[in-house]
Amino acid sequence: MTNEHRQSMRAFLAIADEASSLTRIADRVDPVHEIAAWLSLLDGRGPLVFENVAGHAMAVTGNHLTTRAQAARALGVETDGLQARLVDAVRSPLAPRVVAGPAPCQEVVVPDPDLAALPIPVFFEHETGPYISAGAIVARDTVSGRGNLSIARLKPLGANRALIGIAPNHHLSQLARAARARGDRLEIAVSLGNHPALLLAACFYLGLGDDELEVAGALFGEPLEVAPCRSVGLAVPAHCELVLEGVLDPDETVEEGPVSEFHGMYERYGAGHVVTFSQMTRRRDAVFQCVLPGYAGEHVLLGAEAIAAGLRQSLDRALPSVREVAVTAGGAGRLHAVVSLEGAREGAARRAIFAVWAAVSLVKQVTVVDGDVDPWDPVAVEHAVATRMRPERDLIVVSGVQADRAEPLEKDGLVGKLGIDATAFASDRSDWTRARPPEAVLARVRERIARQLRDSGTATPGRPRS
Ligand code: MN
Repeated sequence: MTNEHRQSMRAFLAIADEASSLTRIADRVDPVHEIAAWLSLLDGRGPLVFENVAGHAMAVTGNHLTTRAQAARALGVETDGLQARLVDAVRSPLAPRVVAGPAPCQEVVVPDPDLAALPIPVFFEHETGPYISAGAIVARDTVSGRGNLSIARLKPLGANRALIGIAPNHHLSQLARAARARGDRLEIAVSLGNHPALLLAACFYLGLGDDELEVAGALFGEPLEVAPCRSVGLAVPAHCELVLEGVLDPDETVEEGPVSEFHGMYERYGAGHVVTFSQMTRRRDAVFQCVLPGYAGEHVLLGAEAIAAGLRQSLDRALPSVREVAVTAGGAGRLHAVVSLEGAREGAARRAIFAVWAAVSLVKQVTVVDGDVDPWDPVAVEHAVATRMRPERDLIVVSGVQADRAEPLEKDGLVGKLGIDATAFASDRSDWTRARPPEAVLARVRERIARQLRDSGTATPGRPRS
């Protein structure tokens, strides 16, 4: 086992290394476009570490959470237990604990940092510069004292300044406006190089005032260890790799230019806010983390898991029969949801569709399936649509709904929505029995297959589709 602290990115990478899922790239790579090309071409393979980045001594890492199986392993659960783990963490937050003594992320202190000294990748052809894409940003509401943790892109603007990409409805933007109304500028601390639990927690859509750092602690099953910042009144994850401390000024804006979005295309959001960093702290041998942006595995997964777990919670309040909620990779981890309902009575599927639309504005298409269908399996979902859905009865199309600014087909602020009820109606068929060998025989043979694979040293196969 690893000696690294279990709340560190290093512990996650060490475990991936032991499981032979880590790939070290010894080739010299250019942070301009080349790191993105490697991450893109090896998407889904496991974490990558670039040990030799042109012009920089610091290593770069990415692709930590490109599959659900990786995310589950990082949290120490089976894949089919991932959603329950995330929902439990949101329901039972744990307050952080301040570490005594110097924190690992503060071994080196750099006043007035120059962002050009960091190996920040330029990802895509038509973006206008490099982006810090894995920065987990800590902030605090100075009135309520409650913390906030969220991920937002940062584009260096020269020296210690950067543009921050946040929509007006983001908590960070709300906190910045509230600080300005009091005549202050919002202090922030960008924490880089984090364990997957922190990145997943940062992506949750909680209420304003609900602290995502407490959810990260719950995911670890112990309080998150934090360290007080040196120049701002915040505390950051103590075991991260690198911290940028500074302020967010909502009065200063700068034009961003085309920027990639989760759906895979470029958006032009116009002007963004500016942040100014007064200090950087880091580990002596810090590793720089990035999340490949655009329509890429990790970017899609971070949104999908957080939205799905949040939807699961809202739906549990509206309906008694929710088994699991998926937000699909094909829907870019934001646009399409699939809800599986256990023993739902007639009309429950339609109720679920409206509840999803009400809860998350980005979700455009909702498919509802029965409890025997795995909502994360696109083939199983399509099979349910093929065999249980009558278009003339089971489709709901709604036009002219207020859209999120990141919606790819948004026009004049509006978009259409599609609901698909793919649950079985008793009135459609007199016999829904699945044709297959008897269950007792399946169980017996399943056991024999598992034994044979064990004996031949092959990994046990997943549960066969029933
Ligand atoms: Mn928040």
